[in-house]
Amino acid sequence: MIERIREQLEKGERIDRQQAEWLWNNASDKELSSLSKIVRARFHKADEATYLLMRIINYTNVCVAKCDYCSFYRLPGDKDGYVRDKEYVFSKIDELVNVGGNFFGFNGGFNPKLRIDYYLDLFSSIRKRYGDKIEFYALTVVEFLYIARLCKLSNKEALAMFKEAGVNWITGGGAEILADSFRLRHSPLKYTVKEYMDTQADILDAGLKTTGTMVIGFDETLEERLDHLETVRDFQDARLQAGKEGLFSFLCWTYKPYNNELGGKEISSQEYLRHLALSRIYLDNIKFLRTSVLTQNQAALEGLNYGANDFDIPWEDEVTQLAGAVIEKDVDRILGYAQEAGFKTKLRPVNICQPLGQVK
Ligand code: SF4
Repeated sequence: MIERIREQLEKGERIDRQQAEWLWNNASDKELSSLSKIVRARFHKADEATYLLMRIINYTNVCVAKCDYCSFYRLPGDKDGYVRDKEYVFSKIDELVNVGGNFFGFNGGFNPKLRIDYYLDLFSSIRKRYGDKIEFYALTVVEFLYIARLCKLSNKEALAMFKEAGVNWITGGGAEILADSFRLRHSPLKYTVKEYMDTQADILDAGLKTTGTMVIGFDETLEERLDHLETVRDFQDARLQAGKEGLFSFLCWTYKPYNNELGGKEISSQEYLRHLALSRIYLDNIKFLRTSVLTQNQAALEGLNYGANDFDIPWEDEVTQLAGAVIEKDVDRILGYAQEAGFKTKLRPVNICQPLGQVK
């Protein structure tokens, strides 16, 4: 079977779900790494990788979604709940710009007190102050959907307002595992797979960019992981076959089990790397596969040998830090890990928005 799959990949063909399941259960780490490199080479030079120096800015920790795997949220009225103002956000941006960073992600919660005006004011002020020198993920898909519904706006209406405020990206965060069985168990208020995917389509149709994401290591089954990969691949196929913009990238990271209701144990880096390779092999229609330094530290750079071609060097993310992530801020050391893994690295330009097929 392994040779048949290798031949398929070398001919530019894709594997089906049964073959993905077979690979997960039977292929060695070395075999997965080697197969992932065949698909990676369709898009990227074998010894090159790109990165961003970025920070997540957590603008509020108040959230009513109550996902059981979350270590970050506070309920409305909790003493340690917060909402950040513009001056706070600017100081976070300035700090990273001063050390060479240029990319920011805004991530908070489903805060019923914050209406769309808060976000529009924040994002338009950032654009006014920094122009195109920096780029940012305005929100995650699920935060965006919450705000639109809270304010009784259609996705289309809300997206037009965000665009007008200078927003170019809404990240695919909030996907975790795209299987309704998983979402019902752990995050029933965080929208169904259909609601999530329809919103991603709306974001792209509005002319904004978005990304694919996945988080593994909760209690999800192999079936649920494969459901996720299949949903993402089918979505991208439908977009590209219709001649429309698709997902820019796919990033998988791992669940951290500390300080939350769900608890559990962390999966091994080996399991993460195997999943990264499987994602690269299966998601043959997404050009950028990103490895998670935030949750895997040094092992993430070994992910470049398991199909990934891009990574973030994170400066801060309260959500994952509260759940147990440890951030290393020594950029040279992280880039050194990539070199040890056999890769030349270069900083990715902030305004990289090229569709599939144009980035090299
Ligand atoms: S994971 Fe996000 S949506 Fe879920 S409770 Fe935490 S902040 Fe809220």
